[in-house]
Amino acid sequence: MNQPDVDVVVVGAGIAGLYAIHRLRGDGLTVRCFEAGDDVGGTWYWNRYPGARCDVESLDYSFSFSPELEQDWNWTERYATQPEILRYLQYVADRFQLRSAITFETKVEGLSFDEASLLWNVGTSGGEELRARFVVLATGPLSAASLPFLPGQEGFSGRIFHTSSWPHEPVDFSGRRVAVIGTGSSGIQLIPRVAEQAEALHVLQRTPNFSVPAHNWFWKDEDLADAKAGYRERRKLSWQCAAGTPYPTTVVKTFEVDEAERERIYEQRWQVGGARFPRAFADVMADRTANAQVVAFVHGKINELVTDPKVANRLMPQGYPLGAKRICVDTGYYASFNRDNVTLVDLPQDPIEAIEPDGIRLASGLVEVDDLVFATGFDAMTGAISRMNIEGRDGRQLSDTWSAGPRTVLGVSVAGYPNLFIVNGPGSPSVLSNMVLTSEQQVNWIADALKYLGEHDLAGLEAEEAAQEAWDEHCSSLAINSLMFEADSWYVGANIPGKPRVLLPYVGGLPRYMEQCALVADAGYRGFTSLRGTSEAARTSKDQDD
Ligand code: FAD
Ligand code: NAP
Repeated sequence: MNQPDVDVVVVGAGIAGLYAIHRLRGDGLTVRCFEAGDDVGGTWYWNRYPGARCDVESLDYSFSFSPELEQDWNWTERYATQPEILRYLQYVADRFQLRSAITFETKVEGLSFDEASLLWNVGTSGGEELRARFVVLATGPLSAASLPFLPGQEGFSGRIFHTSSWPHEPVDFSGRRVAVIGTGSSGIQLIPRVAEQAEALHVLQRTPNFSVPAHNWFWKDEDLADAKAGYRERRKLSWQCAAGTPYPTTVVKTFEVDEAERERIYEQRWQVGGARFPRAFADVMADRTANAQVVAFVHGKINELVTDPKVANRLMPQGYPLGAKRICVDTGYYASFNRDNVTLVDLPQDPIEAIEPDGIRLASGLVEVDDLVFATGFDAMTGAISRMNIEGRDGRQLSDTWSAGPRTVLGVSVAGYPNLFIVNGPGSPSVLSNMVLTSEQQVNWIADALKYLGEHDLAGLEAEEAAQEAWDEHCSSLAINSLMFEADSWYVGANIPGKPRVLLPYVGGLPRYMEQCALVADAGYRGFTSLRGTSEAARTSKDQDD
């Protein structure tokens, strides 16, 4: 009974899970992966709403581990659409023969650590029970939907959608009256597309968001060929930059240049478009007065783009800094409100009282709609993990361990849960970076750690409490001056009632994070206790086959 069925169980077959299968198998380990969906892709499998696309440039939002793959795949647009990214991930799964490791339409529902054998018992929704030496949670930082339940919703007679579980068949909104609840990145991408089709669109906004135009374009063959010729250099630079993209952070501060130059820089950034806009100056996220300058610039843009000044005013974010909520990137969002068929509902002024069979009862009266679209986001970074039943040493539950906020070492490992590793988890740079590179970097760190165990005849690694405290302090010291605390965003868990208010991502940027990871590994996994297990537990199922 002390023998594992497999070396590693990977949970999730998105970008992180796919790379984990590839790398760990390449290291000679046996791997089983379980995925709730019926195909690979993760985020790009589930979020199929109209307008869904990446806001990291396609050339960068792609795997870097294989130069051949980089050369063989041709992206068509500056920012890839959801279908194109999904096709790419399906292609990767086929090319590297990853599917044979994956059991689809199967959730991992329970994980419990057996202290005697040092193995994880893994229970799935398919009724399978297996024992693994290691578990890698590649369950996604933005995969557990937040579905507000509004009074009366069960009696609604029309269709209900959530952006993160969009139907696989195209949804036709022609001739329909539609309400969209939520104006985060998903809502802001979706709204212009629904506006083009629907008879009437009501946008229910609780908090306005800052959005920057994407200025997307299609690659010309010769430009793509040139860009790909420099791919290795581009990647090298990406690994050196905080956001994991090949754009170094400026060191110039807002008030080091005069007003005319400031406006010129903001305008230039706006014209380039995309999520880099907040990094116009080095102090935007650390200095309120500097932030107020860029806020005023965006307010001016909203005024230019929206013809009705009252609507423009209601679309202007007030009272929180730009960048404290994830910046949105759009194609035609603000202009949608110039259409006759689009109405903005300002929920703080006109709250939802109930859902009725024919529509939404607002304080001001009934808005009749045929379709209700929730673009209400996610229980981010901890949701997918907390929704699993994970039992560590002494029967402790991870959801209890994290009840006051998640604590980890490097965002990868939790004290009391040996040999359980997290990719893109809380305490990692993930959501503040290009997440293809963060996935590769974390998986590589985990795989190197497992290699180290093999080389030193060890059965496992367990994060130490003291190292967890030190990591917490390190993360807090970097975040102390960050303006991110000043908005009720998912970055701080504020979108989920009762969730502790803790800054979830690592704000020090990818290179500094990589340095910290390297320091730990180079010091023989400092901050981790090595476990010397039974020889039985250390044997892999592959050994048994030999
Ligand atoms: P995911 O892609 O979320 O995959 C996790 C998988 O785990 C899912 O398929 C899920 O079904 C599965 N899973 C979870 N729990 C279980 C369980 N218990 N059992 C079995 N399976 C389970 N990031 C960027 O860097 N740039 C972008 O432009 C960008 N755009 C985004 C757009 C949208 C609409 C969203 C929602 C996110 C976006 N992100 C973006 C973030 C995106 O989530 C990451 O870039 C990346 O896809 C995360 O990959 P992952 O493998 O870590 O997680
Ligand atoms: P989100 O940013 O959390 O936005 C959710 C929206 O729903 C917010 O406007 C929120 O309002 C509103 N909302 C939530 N509950 C509500 C309720 N009960 N009543 C009324 N309004 C409610 O979620 P998201 O738009 O899905 O984006 C999540 C993250 O995914 C992004 O930040 C980004 O990292 C990633 N993403 C990226 C892209 C991209 O461009 N590549 C696209 C989509 C998603 P409040 O602000 O008031 O809470």
